[in-house]
Formats: sequence, C-alpha cells, structure tokens
Amino acid sequence: MIPFSNTVPYDVVSNDVYVQNCPFCGADNVLLPMKPKELITVREGKKKLLIFPCCHNKVTVLDSDGDYLLTDQRLR
Ligand SMILES: [Zn+2]
Repeated sequence: MIPFSNTVPYDVVSNDVYVQNCPFCGADNVLLPMKPKELITVREGKKKLLIFPCCHNKVTVLDSDGDYLLTDQRLR
C-alpha cells in the first residue's frame, strides 16, 4: 500500500508525463523528465531519479499506479 503523503498525482498527455502542481514550488503543469514507459519500469521495481525542472528538487520514484507516483520523500 502506498503511503499517501509520499505520492504526487500525475497525468500522461500524448507521450509526456505532467504533474498538475509541483509539490515543492507549486508551479503549474510541470512537464517531468520522464516518459510514460518509465511509469511501467518503476512499477516493475526500477527506481527513477526525478528532477523537477521548475525548481530542481530531486526525488526518487519508487513505484506508480494509474494516478500517482510514489516517491521516497514526504510531499504533502
Ligand atoms: Zn518545482
């Protein structure tokens, strides 16, 4: 079970992954440096270092489901 505090909701638009709001700086519609196929590889256990382009904060993505990324940090 995913701890809700460590999750961030995402959206896939065409071949890009977005978050509606950056959990660190609050920027809107942030395009993540991550491809939809990487949502699958994290689900299969491959960790992904994610750097938010808006404020350069780093998180490690540990898992995903259809709506949320699970990270190693408390985001809420
Ligand atoms: Zn940010």
